Amino acid sequence: MKMMPLVRGWKTELAPTPEQITLFMKGCGTDRFAYNWGLAWNENVYLHNQLPHERLKNPSSIDLHKELNKLKKEKFPWMYEVTKQAPQEALRHLETAFSRFFKRLGGYPNFKSRKKHGIGSFSLNDGVTVYSDHVAIPTIGDVRLKERGYLPSNHVLGATVSYKAGRWFISIQAKTAIPVKIIEDGCSGTDVGIKHHHATVSQQTIDSKEKEEYTRDITPQIKQLQRELDFLDRKISHKPEGSKRKELMKLKRQRKYKRLSDIVNDSNHKHSHYLTTTFSKNCIERLNIRGMVKNHDLARQIQVRAFGEFGRQMEYKAGWYGSMTMYPPEGMRYPSTQRCSKCGHVLEGDERLGLSDREFVCPRCGFRKERDLNSGGNLCAVALSYRAIRKAATRPNNQTWRREVTSPTQGLVPVDETSNKPEMAQECGLRV
Ligand SMILES: [Zn+2]
Repeated sequence: MKMMPLVRGWKTELAPTPEQITLFMKGCGTDRFAYNWGLAWNENVYLHNQLPHERLKNPSSIDLHKELNKLKKEKFPWMYEVTKQAPQEALRHLETAFSRFFKRLGGYPNFKSRKKHGIGSFSLNDGVTVYSDHVAIPTIGDVRLKERGYLPSNHVLGATVSYKAGRWFISIQAKTAIPVKIIEDGCSGTDVGIKHHHATVSQQTIDSKEKEEYTRDITPQIKQLQRELDFLDRKISHKPEGSKRKELMKLKRQRKYKRLSDIVNDSNHKHSHYLTTTFSKNCIERLNIRGMVKNHDLARQIQVRAFGEFGRQMEYKAGWYGSMTMYPPEGMRYPSTQRCSKCGHVLEGDERLGLSDREFVCPRCGFRKERDLNSGGNLCAVALSYRAIRKAATRPNNQTWRREVTSPTQGLVPVDETSNKPEMAQECGLRV
């Protein structure tokens, strides 16, 4: 069987001893210090270059590390307590941040603050060895793992140790290979929302019957946790600044928030795995985040559910498992919620579904369906009309989908032979 090489990450919890926790804290402190030190240097160069002088070269992470090493012995001797990789990697991250800024992919890098951003993390690029029940980290020693049995022990490229809500985690990057397989059949469309986290409509072929499903309803749990978080927020704001009680409650808040994001992550991972390993073509909704931010409560709900992350998972997992992830066409927004998934009629004006309308009723053909499933059905039709979209995708700059995996179209009836599908592709503004 053909294997595909790839680099992937595994994140798991550590069970450090109190001495190891102290060393971890020092590692994170060194990372923060080196990053801020390098940022101050870079900032001077950046400001200098704004003025009409002769331009200076922006220092690379290697230049900065050399400078830092010169100063280390006299000015920062405490740095010797942690591995030299911690500042080295921090400076490398800084370089990435600046190059992203210069390419206009990200904002100007910010100083890291213990108070504002928390304890943080530090990275290592060499010398990490993984055993069955512990990892060996340079200058820190053997740290026990809380879970066992799934970490790779060969070809480890690097690791990052991070702190979250009173717990320590390690993320390990390693080279691995997975068997290449291509999933041949089936299309699915997934609508994401607040009432139903994911609503999926799938179809094995154009003629087969649609299958409808929701993921496990996590809404009650999310709502309950958010109520508890709000309550804690109010209590924290009444406690005096710097008191021990306040710190304890902040930790409690972090734990609750971690629990909330764990629930969401679990659901997103399970569903993206299911979709990418079951169907050859998956269409997911493109969220109009900017439009939604106007409604604050909605914006908060959307943010907590990490739908952007779900899309990212759908893309990389499609690459792993040999399926394809696509989005409805960009530019003219595809009205998946307002369109009848049976006859293609689009609701306009007063007919349009509001936020609270749970059922879609088509005035043209009388078709009735649960709102999220109707939307899922429309997205599934986009996946089914893949061939039509593929033709249109030869236009320059058309990014109908971001990742194309070699995907045979056998098992699918060509789009032109069905009645409704080319019409739909035209509706989306595509040339067929
Ligand atoms: Zn209809």
